Amino acid sequence: MILRLIALAVLIYFAYRLVRRALAKLRPPQPQDPPTPESQPVVPCKTCGTFVPKDRAHTDDRGHFYCSDRCLQETRERD
Ligand SMILES: [Zn+2]
Repeated sequence: MILRLIALAVLIYFAYRLVRRALAKLRPPQPQDPPTPESQPVVPCKTCGTFVPKDRAHTDDRGHFYCSDRCLQETRERD
């Protein structure tokens, strides 16, 4: 009697594993999005193209974004 119970438990265990594996195949893991700070939009620097958080970017009077004062000055001198 106890052997039958053990055999039954083992069968259930393997059935459970099979079902889980089948489900995993049906529903492949979601592709991981690259981690991005969601609350912080980033903008490319107009001079060098470096992406900087918008709230830390430097802006000129025309609304362009820069990663640093140096880039801001560089573009100002070029124009
Ligand atoms: Zn820059």
